[in-house]
Amino acid sequence: MTVAKFGGSSVASAAQIKKVKDILDSDKNRKIIIVSAPGKRDKDDEKITDMLYKCNALVQKGQSCKSEFAKIQERFIAIAQELSLDIKSLSLELDEIRYQIDAGKGADFTASRGEYLSAYLISQYLGWEFVDAKDAVIINDDGTVNPFSYDRIRMMTSGGGRYVFPGFYGADKSGIIKTFSRGGSDITGSVVSRSVNADMYENWTDVSGMYSSDPRIIKDAKVIDVLTYEEARELSDLGASVFHEEAIAPLIDVEIPVNIRNTNSSDDFGTLIVPATGEKKLAGVSVKHNLSSIEVRRLMLFKQHTTRHQLMTHLHLFGIRPCYSIYGIDSVVWFFNSADASDGILEAMCERLKSQFSLDYVKVERNIAILGIVGSNLMDTADYLKAAFALENNNIKLSFMNYGASDVSVTYGIKEEESNRALEIVYDTLFR
Ligand code: ASP
Repeated sequence: MTVAKFGGSSVASAAQIKKVKDILDSDKNRKIIIVSAPGKRDKDDEKITDMLYKCNALVQKGQSCKSEFAKIQERFIAIAQELSLDIKSLSLELDEIRYQIDAGKGADFTASRGEYLSAYLISQYLGWEFVDAKDAVIINDDGTVNPFSYDRIRMMTSGGGRYVFPGFYGADKSGIIKTFSRGGSDITGSVVSRSVNADMYENWTDVSGMYSSDPRIIKDAKVIDVLTYEEARELSDLGASVFHEEAIAPLIDVEIPVNIRNTNSSDDFGTLIVPATGEKKLAGVSVKHNLSSIEVRRLMLFKQHTTRHQLMTHLHLFGIRPCYSIYGIDSVVWFFNSADASDGILEAMCERLKSQFSLDYVKVERNIAILGIVGSNLMDTADYLKAAFALENNNIKLSFMNYGASDVSVTYGIKEEESNRALEIVYDTLFR
């Protein structure tokens, strides 16, 4: 059996949903699908999920979401009309949802309604059975998937029919709706694939696979035919936004392959993601944007072993979750998403760290990017050195180089404004 997930762009309009039907009609093995909320129809459009988060923000400020929700209503009704579906029951659903959002059901419930309505409409259009993810997918407090989900999903899809699941959400242990992080429908797809022991998990999107680099910047970047789970996860984490980096986890021990496919060009083979290939090869180069750093120093800072832990606790208290850290004998630098902390919060945190740890030096830097090369057995080749020399030779100063923490990636700290040039230089050095 094939499980197929269709992302936001694949279900953004009635025309796109018709393409989904053609794809499903062309292979009867595709028995279960997972759908996202309608995404952007063009680059100036808005994603339904973003609009829903706006509705929730208005309600949190004590305002009504009526006019923002009206735009969502209009979009779903237009899709239903173009697919010749029943508008009456959809309108009732929409009214009820708006009522619940205005009543303050919160961010997770509100955001989840995009996927709910999308699956509701698509199941009607296809004549397939709708399975509400809130009854099937259990999400732990830390956002990971509770393994009890697998049995539940297996039972709910054992009737021999064809099923439509809304992606992105499930419920916590007490049955309250909870979402994964953004882009989380990919995770739902993995969870469902594992539950039914699928032969293949197809992930349909608007590009023909994962690229060797960002095709918006590197014009001759190529679709990668085959990637390992680890390579795909690293590339996703480094900014290749095609497949959620957490979606690999449910698949690892059951070894189900993933095929990234293009709904707008369904004959393309796409990228196949498999457990391992045994090959030594360079897969891609990517950049993670919008990072900041904080560096702290003091003579003998780590004399007490508990200091590292205490420093981290302070960071967490201020909402900062470092994605990279580099320790020196008397210093440490953490890199984190700039969105984690405003300037005001960072200032307050620096003051606190200075006084609490009697620091000599605290420095915050914004506008950092991290460039990473990804491939299998990178340590056995000189590619990571070639990339570093090429950057230095072109006057791109590295704030750090992270080698050895992972077998499949080497990362370099650079300035945000130099990231496109750096990508071009490294791509040219290693791939052309
Ligand atoms: N609709 C959600 C988002 O925009 C989840 C998804 O599409 O996977 O993040």
